[in-house]
Amino acid sequence: MYVKKLDENDELLLKQRREKIKEFQEKGVCFSCQNFITGDIFPDDGLIIYEDELVRCQFEKFPRATGQTIMVSKEHYEDISEMPLDLGVHILKISDVIIKLHKEILGAEKVYMCTICDGKRNHLHFQLFPRLKGEKIGYQNFVREEGILMDYQETADLYRKALKNIKL
Ligand SMILES: [Zn+2]
Repeated sequence: MYVKKLDENDELLLKQRREKIKEFQEKGVCFSCQNFITGDIFPDDGLIIYEDELVRCQFEKFPRATGQTIMVSKEHYEDISEMPLDLGVHILKISDVIIKLHKEILGAEKVYMCTICDGKRNHLHFQLFPRLKGEKIGYQNFVREEGILMDYQETADLYRKALKNIKL
């Protein structure tokens, strides 16, 4: 699994996704709730590595870091200020497993975590950013240029297998 620089066609796909999100936000519709119904904003494409009744965890198709992972709540909470603590604990337990897998499978030196959920209408989600050996440390890892995730199917299988028997 690796991140390739975007070519023209990839850039177009990313632009289309951003426009779709913006369109929903302007209508006051939550794009994440919408995606749980239609699946056409963040298609599975084999990127979903874990799912239960509360959350879905998915590799970002246009990541800023190799293995960037989105963990999104299925219920609508606008941002972290609305998050029930029980859900936070649930997400943290899953994060703990994924973070260790990022270290084992990707050889990540560190794994960063953030939650933003900005804009007019958004949906509680957390992001994990693996920092691989040799990559510069620090905040710039949150704002690196997006690429496109390549050759991820086998790696995603390893994550899915490991997360299948997670004890929560
Ligand atoms: Zn929502």
